[in-house]
Amino acid sequence: MTQPVGQQAVVKRIYQCDETESLAQFIFWMGRQLANNKHKSGWGGMSPAQLIRRLKQELGELERAIEQKEPYERIASEAADVANFAMMVQDLFWREP
Ligand SMILES: [Mg+2]
Repeated sequence: MTQPVGQQAVVKRIYQCDETESLAQFIFWMGRQLANNKHKSGWGGMSPAQLIRRLKQELGELERAIEQKEPYERIASEAADVANFAMMVQDLFWREP
């Protein structure tokens, strides 16, 4: 019995995943998005709740980019936006005395 084409693609992708390479690629996109937004005021004055609200907005942008079949660069930058807001939440707690 043959698998549907979509399932074959998923199985093939699982075997091709390289954690180190994927993480390095994602860190690149996170850094690029942070640099693109360097002119903004930062997250030091924001509460965890405010950051999570922004994270959810960015998740919506990521979902829309996928639904609208945007190019890879757009999807990668929106995924990095989501991750960056999660990073900012942890950063607030890390800096607490
Ligand atoms: Mg965004």
